[in-house]
Amino acid sequence: MRYLCVFGNPIAHSLSPLLHNAILQSYKLPYLYGRFMLDSGENLGKTFDKLDLCGANITLPFKEHAYLVAHSLSPLAKHIGAVNTLVRTSSGKICGYNTDAPGFIASLLLSGFRLGSAKGLEESLQSEEMSKLAPLLEQSSGERIESALILGAGGSAKALACALQECGTPVVVANRSSKHEAFFTQRQIPYCLFDELDSSARFDLIINATSSSIAQALPLPESTLAPLLTRSKLAYDLMYGRLTPFAHISKECGTAYKDGADMLILQALSALRLFCPELADTPRIYTIMRSVFTQGRSA
Ligand code: NDP
Repeated sequence: MRYLCVFGNPIAHSLSPLLHNAILQSYKLPYLYGRFMLDSGENLGKTFDKLDLCGANITLPFKEHAYLVAHSLSPLAKHIGAVNTLVRTSSGKICGYNTDAPGFIASLLLSGFRLGSAKGLEESLQSEEMSKLAPLLEQSSGERIESALILGAGGSAKALACALQECGTPVVVANRSSKHEAFFTQRQIPYCLFDELDSSARFDLIINATSSSIAQALPLPESTLAPLLTRSKLAYDLMYGRLTPFAHISKECGTAYKDGADMLILQALSALRLFCPELADTPRIYTIMRSVFTQGRSA
């Protein structure tokens, strides 16, 4: 038997074991996927070794620790500066990947949106993480996303901003504080405070990548957000499984809305295919994960 797990703190709520084990059992593969609550990111590397893992997913708040634990990094993980997937290679080294970014991009394409310049997208589809999802993705003929606004500047905002930039979609990041500004400035991604947002601006895609939905709050005042949402083509909340205030106001503005469920499933799918290269039938894996996710949420 080979062992995989997800590290985080807290971790009890994680759906990763459910999603991964459903596929491993369905294909009768000799792997078991568990969850591990880590006290400190400092212990990530030695716990990975002690549990004799062949791979792991990393969630809040340890993605930057995982970046440091990896002996080598995929170009995408290096660019983003965060790792959510660790894989032990046949030589015993640990390689770090970021599958959050491809999961997000794939979720947009799968929903029928077109992104950025064809060249930018084509190049980004070639990353190892994204190529695992490629069988699911065709350039759709749907609405084109020409610009994006990301609310929030934490770990997921960083991954999404880099991913959109790689695809050739102009992106602006707005946050309540300036503590993450340097990361975006270094990558030439425009950054502003919520107070500085021009509510008459136009963004095709508005993403709530703040943790505000956890507290059932809006990320910024409705008077700024509503006019922006009214002009956008898609409002995307990374939170899933509940009607958030962001979802509610998007619906009131008549704007199409998407939650984070597909992103969660697609990042898991990409990671699982990195853990188990023998798994190839991406569309079937997606269908099983989708169905297990829906059952898991309603149980
Ligand atoms: P981080 O903790 O790294 O970042 C949180 C961000 O939210 C920061 O920019 C923070 O601002 C901002 N923020 C926190 N509370 C508020 C608030 N009340 N109002 C406005 N801004 C606020 O978190 P992540 O980036 O990892 O995650 C963000 C969200 O995305 C979470 O809800 C998480 O569950 C979800 N997520 C979903 C995934 C999926 O697969 N669907 C994957 C990853 C995350 P500041 O910088 O000033 O502190």
